[in-house]
Amino acid sequence: MKSETYVIVGAGLAGARAAEALRAEGFDGRVVLLGEEAEYPYIRPPLSKDYLAGTSARHSIDVHQAEWYAGQDIEVLPGRAVTALTLDARRLTFADGGTLRYDRLLLSTGAAARPFPGDGGDLAGVHLLRTVGDSTRLKEALEPGRRRVVVVGAGWIGLEVAAAARGYGNDVTVLGQGAVPLERAVGAEIGAIFAQLHRDNGVDLRMETGVAEILGADGRVTGVRLETAAGRATAGEAAAEGVGSGTDEERGEVVPADVVVIGIGATPNTRLALDAGLEVADGIVVDAAFRTNEPGVYAVGDVASVFHPVLGHHLRVEHWANAENAGRAAALSMLDRAVSYEEIPYFYTDQFDLGMEYSGYGELARDAELVFRGDRSAREFLAFWVADGRVVAGMNVNVWGVNDSVQTLIRSRIRVDPSVLRDGTRSLESIIGQAVEAPGAGS
Ligand SMILES: Cc1cc2nc3c(=O)[nH]c(=O)nc-3n(C[C@H](O)[C@H](O)[C@H](O)COP(=O)(O)OP(=O)(O)OC[C@H]3O[C@@H](n4cnc5c(N)ncnc54)[C@H](O)[C@@H]3O)c2cc1C
Repeated sequence: MKSETYVIVGAGLAGARAAEALRAEGFDGRVVLLGEEAEYPYIRPPLSKDYLAGTSARHSIDVHQAEWYAGQDIEVLPGRAVTALTLDARRLTFADGGTLRYDRLLLSTGAAARPFPGDGGDLAGVHLLRTVGDSTRLKEALEPGRRRVVVVGAGWIGLEVAAAARGYGNDVTVLGQGAVPLERAVGAEIGAIFAQLHRDNGVDLRMETGVAEILGADGRVTGVRLETAAGRATAGEAAAEGVGSGTDEERGEVVPADVVVIGIGATPNTRLALDAGLEVADGIVVDAAFRTNEPGVYAVGDVASVFHPVLGHHLRVEHWANAENAGRAAALSMLDRAVSYEEIPYFYTDQFDLGMEYSGYGELARDAELVFRGDRSAREFLAFWVADGRVVAGMNVNVWGVNDSVQTLIRSRIRVDPSVLRDGTRSLESIIGQAVEAPGAGS
């Protein structure tokens, strides 16, 4: 093995954990971790939370300090974007024409923030949020306070940015397309709880509201023009004919803004894989052991669409815990260990005084019965999604130390009576224990 070179393209969390695991598992060949950003690997969740709010220092988001990688003999090359991958020759090419040969390759190229698709997205004062540089710039824009901040998108990142922006004393408007925020992620009932949280904290949350364009003067943002209902219906036609969306009266309302943040999702960085001829769908397609259709080439993290044995289909997960755990698992697979990755998707959020963890299979939860335990009005509760008598997802809001039990409950696939889940006097451990003891309970 000593002479082998394992290269990881993408120095984010997934790539860093993979490099770490290669060494921890005794791989003694060359390990190279290549990153487009001029940074050592860092974690992104704080970029819309404590780092943005100014309560965490830059060094606290590093996965490891630079010396650690040197001590592990992991070659980290920040600011080194790979521009081409030649599968036959097992070769990577850089922008300056330099090349690097690999024996095994892991693609952990992550995702990029989706830019505003209409006019005005490039004006000064319009922010995307993906990198620590983005977050630092946004922090500088929010810090003075008393600014008019418009957040386009009421997803996790949009809502977290809204909370941080309010924390600096800005006027904040959030524009979202669904009836309530987060409806696709956690359903209308939980979405309504987040809506109330934001309104209680002074956010002007406007749902079922689209943005037609971002307006500016002298190259700087001045506001966003909302879509009218009619505008939404005819936007496609008007664009096709190359005309604007009507007279001033017919056009939508303008919301004035000093700062605009675009939080409308992310797109997986699949270009390298696609150009090389790897199979790509929603992300780079891999099996449950992170193997692409090319021997010796693996993919993991936000960029990978991984076969999930429990769901029976591919799933691309854009969450921190996936990068953390799957990064390690992909390294084991690179070392030819038997791997079948079937972690339950997990994510968390912090907004104002609400902290939340969620574990589960969102798609199975869609038509499930929602069962609450605790006090929703005080925003201190657990929620379980029960489908066919089994818990398929669970969430804890301002209640801590229970998420492992929620995961055990989901994994066990035991049948549970919703009234038992509702009963706050019954510990989750006792529910799991009792069901396991009861003959046939798990079937
Ligand atoms: C602001 C923000 C807040 C978030 N909050 C949460 C949260 O609260 N909870 C949660 O669960 N998840 C959260 N996430 C998601 C989580 O951060 C991601 O799931 C995680 O970062 C994915 O890690 P990754 O290593 O797969 O990809 P990334 O972190 O995207 O890293 C990929 C790296 O590869 C580099 N790269 C791309 N192409 C090339 C190339 N050709 N050559 C070299 N390098 C390349 C990129 O520049 C990047 O540095 C958040 C994300 C963001 C942006």
